[in-house]
Amino acid sequence: MKLTIHRGSNQIGGTCIRVSTKTTSILLDAGLPLSEHSQPLTKTDVTADALLISHSHQDHCGLLEILPSSMPVYIGGVARSLLDTTRLFLGKPNLANAFRQFKAWQPFAIGDMLVTPYLMDHSATDAYGFLVEVDGKRLFYTGDFRGHGRKSVLFDNLLTRPPTDVDLLLMEGTMLQRGNNDFPDEDAVETAISDVLKIQRNISFLISSSQNIDRIVSAYRACKTNGKILVIDLYSAWVLEQLRQVSQNTPTIDWAFIRVVFDKRKADILFATANRSLFGDFIGRAISNRIKGEELRKRPDKYLMLLKVSSVGLISRFANTDAPATVIYSQWEGYLLPQPVETKQTQSMRSIKTGDHAGVRYLYAHTSGHAPVKDLQLLVKAVKPRHLIPIHTEFPDQYEHLFGNCLMLQDGAEYKL
Ligand SMILES: [Zn+2]
Repeated sequence: MKLTIHRGSNQIGGTCIRVSTKTTSILLDAGLPLSEHSQPLTKTDVTADALLISHSHQDHCGLLEILPSSMPVYIGGVARSLLDTTRLFLGKPNLANAFRQFKAWQPFAIGDMLVTPYLMDHSATDAYGFLVEVDGKRLFYTGDFRGHGRKSVLFDNLLTRPPTDVDLLLMEGTMLQRGNNDFPDEDAVETAISDVLKIQRNISFLISSSQNIDRIVSAYRACKTNGKILVIDLYSAWVLEQLRQVSQNTPTIDWAFIRVVFDKRKADILFATANRSLFGDFIGRAISNRIKGEELRKRPDKYLMLLKVSSVGLISRFANTDAPATVIYSQWEGYLLPQPVETKQTQSMRSIKTGDHAGVRYLYAHTSGHAPVKDLQLLVKAVKPRHLIPIHTEFPDQYEHLFGNCLMLQDGAEYKL
């Protein structure tokens, strides 16, 4: 077995790893880098017999579009639907890759390799780690993971029944450098949201990714506890719809305590009608659970609205110095650090954070999609790999001291096992 990290040995995002034998070559993830200074990959880097995608975040799968469409791409079913969901709402056609679906913990062969996908707890739903076996050698790639989300049981199971005899463990280390003022787990985030809703006299906004399903569930549960309504846009509603394939426990637009708002600026109604055949009965159901602007303005204290930073302009319409609207910022705060090029909306969000918007108050409630160091240590202890290889981290040099048994691989260097 040969291993090359094309990209990811010393950065977060842009991950692309090659595992090959004499006859077969596969890639683990093909992501877009988060940093503009990151080295681009060459065409040979991304040529292989197959690609395995760990999850639907762009820094793990953003190169799909430029890969040859004949190359088989293995991905979880929901993860694939989520990719198409984003593209549909951006007005782009579905990806034309040769997708093959796998099922959690069901091994499948690619050439002389045997791959077993391990379902992981991460902020992206339907995320996997991969065990790759060739000729008695075993490599385990974690993808992105944590042990404190709503699927923490997956992490617990991984600790009690880890893959055994692992020669190489490629483990993400996102949290090695991030100063952590995060909440310990998803339940703590739910409690914080609930505490706001309990006493609110005006609307609250939850700034979060629509694809962070754990967070939407937290928001929904907090609403239900306090008799409030979660208001989501059409895109978020369609994201939730994708989850119906695998879960009956994820809220959909038909549930109580949830309503859909159609955005006039985005011409949601026109878009929905134009794509009615794609949406099936969804649009009819969304319309019957629609909430109108007048209702929101009449009793704003009844609602929690899921919002993206790009729609932050809406918040000022609800500003009220007697009863401030609350903005619950529920994603990585690093997105608010000043950038060389940034949107008006990001600047506006930052000024809400610093308290410069009269009638609007700011609250941070977030837990990371990535495992903190203590959980990374638990995983290494459970798996007991012959060697640990840093991936998806800006601090590979800390691995030896924190976890031991490290093998440092530079981007582009080949390692023979
Ligand atoms: Zn991720």
